[in-house]
Amino acid sequence: MHSFSTFIPPERTLMGPGPSDVNPRILNAMARPTLGHLDPLFVELMDETKKLLQYAFQTENPLTMPISAPGSAGMEACFVNLLEPGDKALVCVNGVFGLRMVENVERCGAIAITVNSTWGEQTDLNAVEDALKAHPDLKVMAFVHAETSTGVRNEAKLLCELAHKYDCLTIVDAVTSLGGIELNVDGWNIDAIYSGSQKCLSCVPGISPVSFSERAVQVIQNRKTKVQSWFLDMNLIVGYWGQGAKRAYHHTAPVNSMYAMYEALLILREEGLENAWARHADGHAKLANGLAELGLELTVDSGFRLPQLNVVRIPEGVDDAAIRKQLLEEFNLEIGAGLGEHAGKVWRIGLMGYACKPRNIDHCLAALRSVLT
Ligand SMILES: *Cc1c(COP(=O)(O)O)cnc(C)c1O
Repeated sequence: MHSFSTFIPPERTLMGPGPSDVNPRILNAMARPTLGHLDPLFVELMDETKKLLQYAFQTENPLTMPISAPGSAGMEACFVNLLEPGDKALVCVNGVFGLRMVENVERCGAIAITVNSTWGEQTDLNAVEDALKAHPDLKVMAFVHAETSTGVRNEAKLLCELAHKYDCLTIVDAVTSLGGIELNVDGWNIDAIYSGSQKCLSCVPGISPVSFSERAVQVIQNRKTKVQSWFLDMNLIVGYWGQGAKRAYHHTAPVNSMYAMYEALLILREEGLENAWARHADGHAKLANGLAELGLELTVDSGFRLPQLNVVRIPEGVDDAAIRKQLLEEFNLEIGAGLGEHAGKVWRIGLMGYACKPRNIDHCLAALRSVLT
């Protein structure tokens, strides 16, 4: 890269934990003329985007919209709006993003009760029920649906059933699950959920779709204290994104990124949710076969593996960083490193959204074969 000249990135194949390859249709949408963020046509686009998001999340929640910031902001939006100082929240931890949830709870001045399960395994439902019984004053239960750090799918439906049995609101991280595996916000009674633009939606990074149930909205409207984040206070954001034609300035939406988000959701709608899930499952099967032929082992049990995030054990004696560098430089291919407890032990191969296609899988397998032999 040279200083003070136009930046032209190479065309990489992004098969890490996100961002994933962006569909060119989405990049084209993003390059269209910027509208004012209260232009009537942009307001129309906001309304259409909300409808498409309701489809993607499978919900009729009116409070469903994209937050103008990455998935981490969606996470923070859920916690800061539902929790007040002194509240108690149960957090299921079996990877990095569960740990981040604990951080969020504590920074709200709330008390985090954690159920820790082994990384690479699912959250233990019995341990969760024990904790729910032991703490009858819990307000919220939070968990990660698709733990991107370990490649594990947690049992979202069953965890939500448990939470409601003990009268807890649920906060669900669906950053990596949305568009990649089955997710049903209304069917599973999820109260607050957030996702991200750059994983299985294959959109540019920087947008976080969220949705809140009527129950959650009641809780937010009846808070005793103000939401400690001005920017993420849903009571204020609805004035801009909310119901009805009258919109008030809250912040300037990243207008062109919203064109991209809309296009990404349109693509998902055109394909159909079930077809998108099936495509991810097929891609995973193809990749898993190829990896087995190379003698590479997936670390997660096939019963709860994420098809969109494949965790591969690094073979004995292989230099993790050197291989990833070679893949990037010689094959323009990005795969992910291990995170947290798994650093240096595994690679994470993403098959997310537009990146989940036979051509990418063949490219990845050929590149791995070349660098490992
Ligand atoms: C990527 C990811 C996030 C954070 O999203 P950003 O857009 O990077 O802020 C949160 N949770 C999970 C499970 C993720 O995979």
